[in-house]
Formats: sequence, structure tokens, C-alpha cells
Amino acid sequence: MRRPLVAGNWKMFKKIAEAVEMVATLKPLVAGSTTVDIVVCPVFTSLHAVAQALKGSNIEVGAQNCYPKESGAYTGEVAPQMLLDAGCAWTIIGHSERREYFKENDEFLNEKLKYALATGLKVMFCIGETLAERQGGKMNEVLKRQLTGGLQGLTEADFGRMSIAYEPVWAIGTGLTATPDQAEEAHAFVRSVVRAQFGETVADALRIQYGGSVKPENAAELMAKPNVDGALVGGAALKADSFAAIVNAAG
Ligand code: PEP
Repeated sequence: MRRPLVAGNWKMFKKIAEAVEMVATLKPLVAGSTTVDIVVCPVFTSLHAVAQALKGSNIEVGAQNCYPKESGAYTGEVAPQMLLDAGCAWTIIGHSERREYFKENDEFLNEKLKYALATGLKVMFCIGETLAERQGGKMNEVLKRQLTGGLQGLTEADFGRMSIAYEPVWAIGTGLTATPDQAEEAHAFVRSVVRAQFGETVADALRIQYGGSVKPENAAELMAKPNVDGALVGGAALKADSFAAIVNAAG
């Protein structure tokens, strides 16, 4: 039985005071949750304050991105070591917005993933097809390419500290959600690719979160599917009550 993982990706929303206020409201709403791993991913500038505010709670903190170097002349970038220092336990890697707007490719994402895991961060690694790719019958091909390139060189121990987030690009921030059956089909395919490349034990233990317009109204139905092990939530994670409802629907 895989323990559900529900994470909120706050994207580029909330200043420090708003972020701290949000988690102060969230904490009591999910305090009773003992069967779900809960993560919030604020912007870089709020990470330390949010981590301080969440000390001793059942909510972990994640970043939305990182750079695969410890330090150096990399203007604008943040090292995984610095994220750990700020109080993060997690980072997201490979979000479709990073792939699209910042041209991050499978090779670079693989480098980031391996580096972040090696520093001690846990990682939510995002994959997903665009609408054109799905309509062109290329969904499986795209997912397989992202998995093969992105996960290259990982060990069994690495998989114990990461999840995969299946996020169909056409469902992110659009209000269009994959149906539970569409999500299940894609998740089962992702697991089969991981099984073929890394074996049964890794594939069976790996958590695969669904992301794409998850809301309190559809969360339970999506997460009831056998291969859907939680959610990565954007818009509905910005409000404490809707994020808490999704957490509570998971377990
Ligand atoms: C996301 O940004 O990862 C996401 C799934 O966004 P939304 O829930 O708003 O579609």
C-alpha cells in the first residue's frame, strides 16, 4: 500500500506574509491527517519563513525548482544545498512550465534530478503530454521519452526518495481535468515503463501523483484509482480550505 502524497505548487503567488498566514490557517485543518504526506511549495523568497512556521507540524516544505550545482557564478539560480538550509525537504523538478518557458529538456532535468537526490532533497518529478501530443496519439511515446531520459542512471535507493507527478499539460490551470479513467490509464502506463526499466520492486513502491486542475470536488474520485497515489495541486492549493479538503480526500 503506497502512502498518498499531496503537494501544493504555489507557482509565483504569495508574498512572505501571505505565505505564512496561509500555512498558519492550513496547519490545524490537516493536523489530524496521519496517513498522507503533505507538502507545500512556496516561491523561493518565502521558503525559510514558511519552513519556520511549519516546524513541528505534519507539513513539509518544497521548492519549485533548483540548479544542479552547490555554488558558483550561476546568476539567478538556487542550489539544493541552499534549499535544505532554508528548511526544504522537497523540490519539484520538470514542471511543464519549466519545460515550456525555460526550455528545460530531459537531459538537463535528469542532471537536476540526480543532483538534488544526491544532496538529500526528495523530488517530485513531473511529466506529461500536451493536448496536441495526446490528440496525435503520441501520449505513451512522450511519457516514455520523458521517463527514459529523465530517470536515466537512477538507483533503487533514489526511487525511495522521489515521486513522479503525471500532469497532462492540457489539464494544468485550464479547469480541464483528466477523468479518473484517463488518469488511471496514464499512471498504469508510467508504472509499466518504470517496471520495465527498473524492476518490479521499484515500480510497485513508486508513488505517482496526478496533477491538473485537481479540486476538492474531483480529488477523491481521482485518488481512489489504484495507480493514483496522491496529487500535485496548483490553483486549489492557494487557499487553505480547498487544499485541506484535497489532503483529507486522500486519506
Ligand atoms: C500544477 O501547477 O502543477 C497544477 C497541476 O496546476 P493546477 O492544479 O492549477 O492545474
